Amino acid sequence: MARDPRLPDLRNFERIVFFTGAGMSAESGVPTYRGKGGIWKEYEPQRYACQAAFDRDPEAVWEFHNYRRGLVGACEPNAGHRLIAQAEATLPHVTVVTQNIDGLHQLAGSERVYELHGSLWWVRCGSERRFSRAVPFDAQRPDGKWWRPDIVWFGDSLKSEVVTKAIDAITRCDLLVSIGTSAVVYPAAQMPLLAQQNGATLVEINPDETPVSKAYDICIRGTAGEVLTALCAGLDEAPAVS
Ligand code: NAD
Repeated sequence: MARDPRLPDLRNFERIVFFTGAGMSAESGVPTYRGKGGIWKEYEPQRYACQAAFDRDPEAVWEFHNYRRGLVGACEPNAGHRLIAQAEATLPHVTVVTQNIDGLHQLAGSERVYELHGSLWWVRCGSERRFSRAVPFDAQRPDGKWWRPDIVWFGDSLKSEVVTKAIDAITRCDLLVSIGTSAVVYPAAQMPLLAQQNGATLVEINPDETPVSKAYDICIRGTAGEVLTALCAGLDEAPAVS
């Protein structure tokens, strides 16, 4: 893809936030929630992804989450994930704020990642947390209690410590690049707009328009992989002299 002349030169910014949603991982084969192939077309969230369902029938909820762990665990980070990790390694300050629960940014090498909606690979029980990529995950403990996926389910609140860090990164950045989010899940949907308070440049990468597109300075209609390839080209070269 020829470089769109509206794309900014990443090397001209001091603090960059990549704000990602399910479309970021679509090219890895992870289904998005909405749109074509969306997982909620097959599974009702009320039966498999909320606290009431877990309290009622943890086994059924785990059957669904083990199914998801299997699907996602077979997926690899795509070129876009790797380019964002390369940007973090090359540029002064890059943060990923993601709505995704798949862990693919970290697998690609990103280190400063805030997962607004938790992770498919972390479980918790009371105050204990554990990381496991096992599929299936043996969720019933010897004491009879169940590990719960450490995911923000429908009806849950976001973790305040994660939100605080994410908002801090967003309000202090001078460039925010939003990738592959439909911007309909709150409060995440509005978060990128906080970057404007600091005069940041806002770029949206999505094949489709979203409800917040009009608030962005630059909207690039394309897929994560192709647009990030153009956006991150030449990252290892010296900055352009202006
Ligand atoms: P969404 O499913 O609501 O929307 C996906 C967006 O990605 C759409 O706007 C679509 O146009 C765009 N898109 C599709 N293919 C793309 C591509 N190749 N490149 C760029 N954009 C592309 O996703 P959302 O906004 O993240 O919100 C849904 C919720 O679903 C989030 O809370 C998230 O936690 C969860 N979710 C996570 C995963 C994951 O971890 N990978 C997958 C599905 C859903």
